[in-house]
Amino acid sequence: MNLRVKSFFLLWSALLALLLFSPAAARADAGAVSVGSDRPAVEIAAQTEYLLDPSGRLEYGDIAGGHLPFHRHAKTSFQFSFQRATLWFKCRIAPAVPGADDPLASRRSFLVFDNAALGSITLYVPVVENGKPGLVTLTGGWQQGDKSKEFPFLYPTFALPDAIDASRPVIVRVATPFALQFRATLYTIDAFRESSFILFLIIGLFVGILIAMILYNLALYLFIRDRHYLFYITYIFFLLLWQCTLIGLFRYFWPPLGEVLIAHIAVFASLMMLFAIVFAIVFLNTARTAPRHDKVLKGLAAFMGVIVAAVFLRQLWLGNLLSYLSGQVSLLILLTAGLSSLRSGFRPALFYVIAYSVFMASALAFIFKFYGWVPNNTFTMHIVIFGSAAEAILLSFALGYRIRVMQEEEALLRERERSLEAISVTDELTGLFNRRFLNASLVKKIAAARRSGTNLSLLMLDVDHFKDFNDTYGHPEGDKVLAALGRLLMQTLREEDIACRYGGEEFVVILHNADQNAALEAAARIRTRFAEWSFMPRAGKDAHLTISIGAAVLNPGESGEHLIFRADQALYQAKHTGRNRVCSA
Ligand code: GH3
Ligand code: MG
Ligand code: MG
Repeated sequence: MNLRVKSFFLLWSALLALLLFSPAAARADAGAVSVGSDRPAVEIAAQTEYLLDPSGRLEYGDIAGGHLPFHRHAKTSFQFSFQRATLWFKCRIAPAVPGADDPLASRRSFLVFDNAALGSITLYVPVVENGKPGLVTLTGGWQQGDKSKEFPFLYPTFALPDAIDASRPVIVRVATPFALQFRATLYTIDAFRESSFILFLIIGLFVGILIAMILYNLALYLFIRDRHYLFYITYIFFLLLWQCTLIGLFRYFWPPLGEVLIAHIAVFASLMMLFAIVFAIVFLNTARTAPRHDKVLKGLAAFMGVIVAAVFLRQLWLGNLLSYLSGQVSLLILLTAGLSSLRSGFRPALFYVIAYSVFMASALAFIFKFYGWVPNNTFTMHIVIFGSAAEAILLSFALGYRIRVMQEEEALLRERERSLEAISVTDELTGLFNRRFLNASLVKKIAAARRSGTNLSLLMLDVDHFKDFNDTYGHPEGDKVLAALGRLLMQTLREEDIACRYGGEEFVVILHNADQNAALEAAARIRTRFAEWSFMPRAGKDAHLTISIGAAVLNPGESGEHLIFRADQALYQAKHTGRNRVCSA
């Protein structure tokens, strides 16, 4: 197993272990629900009876009359999927039971509805006042505004009166513009303090990580100006806004803003999805690496506009429903787009796929929790928050990894280009430049010489009676001579001079900044050194070879071809006047 796959499995196992070993909140037995030192937190859903009022017109009087049919609720949380109705539920609640060792502890208990988007909650709490039955009404929820009598907390929370009457049920009315789904948990004051502390800790960690990711990637964006980072930052920004609104953070710190934000929660959800999609399209380059997903993703991006429109047309329930459904579909498409892109060979998709897998796992755990397949505890309750934070970090890795892969690929490409270029201008046998390079560089050298007003000379070399040498000792021995001449030229010439194999056993040298004297001097040096060289074409046989050289200095206005032509003529003259000599044109 390779390291990446291994760490992937490790991550999953760690997640699973956390799910299995966190303690779950206890559930209440039949009869009146109460919390105490032995059972500090109880989810009351299973102890309640409920009634759904689709018309929303029923009032407390109708319910208290006791004529309407209530149903038992089997689940541990209140879940009515997409039904549009006002929910009524009732449940007998007894005061908190102090422990034997602490008889003076508070008898007060707290009822927490863990969904900040619940619009309006009314509690009709039966009490005993001076020995007589009474009723206390508590209201809350973001749509209640100033009328709210909530205990200040992120989620709608109510401090139940100490004198609560356990013989009569507490009746609760929940009306909300969004789909109904929440837990109602009863806490002792100590348990409430502890759980709110943990929640603030979790949120603090989450907000901290996301802000850090935003700032870090913003800094990177300012340095490298890669638009991928902007899409990522915008996505994470809306993710943060969405989660903080959902968890009631804004309503807690600044209620008027919180209420506006909650009303528009589907807008943030869809903008978040929109930027997640745009990020995926540009990051994965889906048009090329996952063309089928590309079309679907673009369709989904357009659909996000419909949701935003629905919310602004005050169709909150519809907007929320659409954003909930399209969110699930988008997530699946986003994940499979990454897989498809990875399969097509786009390596940076790896971290992207891991990021979305982790987020998907957290979303699944959250859903499974409702079916009791995953324990219901503080960790699983906020698992999507953990999933989002992990996703934000992993996507940031994906961005960094993409830059690295791009650099690697670019370096490889440049390396390949360089070696191809080198191959295309080099003569294999001698290691000198070839004729193609001579033609290109002669034009450049002539232009440079004209610009700087310096001289330029050209030598043409040819091995004397080379055919005889080949015929006597064989072609491979002849090759050794040509290679030796190549080495000699490289050693003798200056850096700025260019030596090429012109063809067969003919060579051309371009001498930079050389007048006639300098050219003849260089030619003489080459000729004498070559003549001194002794070859051993056969054991015990010492052979010597000579070369003839024609030299020409560039005339004003002369072309490269003509310069070569004159050098060739000079070479012809050297051959005809006895070989092993230098002639100039
Ligand atoms: P000259 O003094 O007039 O130049 O006589 P030459 O024999 O050198 O001239 P010629 O042009 O008749 O022969 C050139 C020979 O160079 C013929 C060919 O076999 C040899 N030759 C050309 N290219 C190569 C090569 O790559 N390797 C070897 N071993 N020989 C080559
Ligand atoms: Mg020749
Ligand atoms: Mg020759």
